[in-house]
Formats: sequence, structure tokens, C-alpha cells
Amino acid sequence: MSKNVRVRFAPSPTGPLHIGGVRTALFNYLFAKKHGGTFVLRIEDTDQNRYVEGAENYIVESLKWCGIPFEEGPGTNEKFGPYRQSERKHLYKAYADQLIAEGKAYYAFDSAEELDAHRKDHEEKGKTFIYNWHNRLKLKNSLSLSAEEVQEKLNAGEDYVIRFKSPQDETLHLKDIIRGDIKIDTNTLDDKVLFKADGMPTYHLANIVDDHLMEITHVIRGEEWLPSLALHVMLYDAFGWEAPEFAHLPLILKPTGKGKLSKRDGDKLGFPVFPLAWKDEQTGDISRGYREDGYFPEAVVNFLAFLGWNPGTEQEIFSLEELIEAFDLEKVHKAGARFDPDKTKWFNHHYMQEQHNDDLAEQFKMVYPEELNDIDINYISMVIGLIKERATFVYDFWNLGHFFFQTPEELDEKSVKKAWKEDTPELMKELITVIDSIEDYSQEVIQNTIKGWITSKEIGFGKVMMPLRLSLVGSLQGPDVFDIMYMIGKNESIRRIDNLLNTL
Ligand code: GLU
Repeated sequence: MSKNVRVRFAPSPTGPLHIGGVRTALFNYLFAKKHGGTFVLRIEDTDQNRYVEGAENYIVESLKWCGIPFEEGPGTNEKFGPYRQSERKHLYKAYADQLIAEGKAYYAFDSAEELDAHRKDHEEKGKTFIYNWHNRLKLKNSLSLSAEEVQEKLNAGEDYVIRFKSPQDETLHLKDIIRGDIKIDTNTLDDKVLFKADGMPTYHLANIVDDHLMEITHVIRGEEWLPSLALHVMLYDAFGWEAPEFAHLPLILKPTGKGKLSKRDGDKLGFPVFPLAWKDEQTGDISRGYREDGYFPEAVVNFLAFLGWNPGTEQEIFSLEELIEAFDLEKVHKAGARFDPDKTKWFNHHYMQEQHNDDLAEQFKMVYPEELNDIDINYISMVIGLIKERATFVYDFWNLGHFFFQTPEELDEKSVKKAWKEDTPELMKELITVIDSIEDYSQEVIQNTIKGWITSKEIGFGKVMMPLRLSLVGSLQGPDVFDIMYMIGKNESIRRIDNLLNTL
């Protein structure tokens, strides 16, 4: 790539960022890094009605948590700043005026009620109302009215919008890196509003002006913006600017593969669709987040990367560095990407194994503060080393290893039936003296001593190992019995066997 690649993630702060948005940010980031380019964050907050307090912060936090930092953005390296469109308000009007002066856009004075009436009228006749060449001369705008009438309205301070004058009877040839060539008949396009009555630009105008001023070379965004591509390309043309290249990413589909993934799917099937938890201040509703649900950012990044892209090999585990190396926009698919919550967990299980036990111990302590408060962090870390192979989330550690920290309170009935026979009490009493006699209480010595004793008695291993495990764990589950005995110590091991003898 010869030119200096600059891409942007341009979310609107209207609520928590959907993971689809994070995927867009990730693909932008990967593309930028791959080509030694720059990843920019621009906040598109021109729609005051949809602005939500805290949403921008949420976006920034999410990118930080995922480990995909922007190099330019609000408060960071503001070379082309400001990066919040609300702070760039003063810029946009002149561009709209320029298009008017050149006859490429026009003032429209139609009220919302009038437009509604037109819409209804068309519907009744089985038609759709499109504001364009077809009927614009019958409507109230600077193309249909005389120059004096227009000036009068403007002087009187009447509300107006500025519309783009889309061409008649032309075929546009658009290019998308993922979708290839797209042909559009301009007669199907409406004269989109560029500038609103409230003095703010619409998304379309602000987006194009900013991408131009910020020297964006590639626009990588969600498929929902594909219908806007024609207008955007026409706008670049109207201004005489070189358009960036475009890539529209495929939709993220429900686990069933039918329809777009929504928050409701997540609620119903029990997985988050947001990177971080979010509280809706108006309803008090809390949406769960991947971070709070115990996912590692590496896992989230890895599964997001595979939503619509794959390297074309068998490899599934990719660090961020490896993703940058392997990523290729041309390999992104057109078809929607089905979201698979089980695969997401599979990634988390994998990244769990790569974490340091000490870090996991700190996290585990935060999840179970009361239970683990007095327990040495090194001990917790050792326990994690024994059980994490079977854990997907940090909070799984408790179920998998509570008996390392507390005498089991409950006995699993099925296990009792299976493990506790008539001759068990005698064996357990003898086992206690065997354990008591061990001086060097290490895993190896415990194992050799007990196994030796069982062999010398010429009985099956299960006859001892099952009730022993039952006393230590409360069920027949858990890691190696001798590891458990070593970890909880000699006295506690004996105490637990004794306890069970008294209970059963
Ligand atoms: N503000 C738009 C959004 O919320 C940006 C679309 C684009 O990237 O052009 O997704």
C-alpha cells in the first residue's frame, strides 16, 4: 500500500457499544497496524436527541480493555482535532453552502407535516414517496421557488434543511473491497438531507467532511451503511475530493443464523452482546458485559476476529500480533457471520490456560472476597494451577476447588452410595493411622505410602480411594487426591476422614 493508511472508528455515543461495533473497531485497528497506518477514534455526536451521557467514555474504556488503542482521538494526539463532531459544528455549514452555491444542493422548506401528507398520499395510491428529481419541482425548495421567494424565507428565519441534489438517469459504479463492484441507478436515490433545521449537519455531511479533513484513506464499517455509499461517493465527487476506499463488514447473525444478533438473543441464551456491563440510567436496566462475565480480552478479540474473517488455514488461536500479521480485508466474507456463544467459551478456556496463576488468584479473590479473605495468595495460586485445566471462567474455580479452602459442607448422595460400603469404616480408621505415620508430608510420599499400603492389603484401589476422596471433597470429583491431601495438610486430611466416619 503506497499511501499512508489512516482509518477511523466513528461510533455515535447513543448507548453501550454492541460487540459488532467492537468488531468494526478491531478490523480497523488490524488493518491500520498491518499497513503501518494510524487508527483514529472520532465521536459522531451530531444527533443531540440520541446522545447518551457516559456512552463516549464507555467506548473509550471498551477499546482500552480489548487492547486496541486509538492513536488519535478525543484528548489523544489531536492533530486533526477536535475529534468530537459536536465540537466541529462550526465547520460543516460552509461545505453545505458551497454545494448550494455550485447548484449541487438546495434549500428545502417543506415542513414535517407537509412531507407526511405527501407520504400518505402516495401510500394511498400504492406508491412510495421519494424526494428527488421526480417530484422536487412540485415541492417547496430553492429549485421550485424563485430566488426572491427563497431569500424572503431565509430572511424571515423560516426553518429549512439543505438537501443534496441527486442526479437523474445515471448509473453509479461503486467499489467495495469486500463486495466488489456495485451498480446503482440514481433514480432510486432520494435527495438526502445534509444539513438540518437545528443547525447541525446530518451524519452524511459530517462524516464525509471529517473523513476528508482527517485524511482517512479507508472507510471500514458495518454493512448497515452500505445503502449510504452511493450518496457518500457522490458527495466526494461534488466536492472534487478523492474518495477513500470502502469496505463494508458483514452482519453478525444470531446463533441460529437467522437475523441480526440482538441484545434480546443474548438475554435469552445467556451471553453478553456488549464488551462491558452497562447501566441504563433511565430504566435502571443493567446489560451484562464480557468483562464482567469473566471473559479475557484476548478471548473476545480472538472470537471477534473470526466473525466474518478467517485466515484460510486451520489455525484458530491468534494473539493480537498474529492477527495483525494474518489479517486481510480481501479475505473478509460478504455473508453474515453467525455468532457462536459456545465457541466464545472455548476461546476463553484456551486463554485461561495462558494466564499466570498469580494473576488469576488475584481475580479469584475479587470474585470470592469473603471466602478467600484470610487465605494466602500463593496458596490460592497453587490451587488454581491444579484446577484451571477444567475452568472456563475465574468464577468456576470455586466449584472446582472449594474443598481446598473449606471442609466440604455437603455430601453428594450418589457418591456416598457408590463409595461407602460396609467395610469402609474399618479401612478408613486404618488409613488414618497410615496417614498419621507419614513424616515427610509431600505429594509423592503420601502417594507412595498410601498406594503401598493398599497393595499390601491386596484390595482394590477404589475401596480406599473413593471413600478417601469422598471425605476430602464431599463427592467423587476433583483433581488428584494426593494433591488435595498435600495442599490441605496432614491434620486437615485426617480431620475430614474422621468427620465422615462420624457422620456416616
Ligand atoms: N456514526 C456512524 C455509526 O454510528 C459511523 C458510520 C461510519 O463509519 O461511517 O456507526
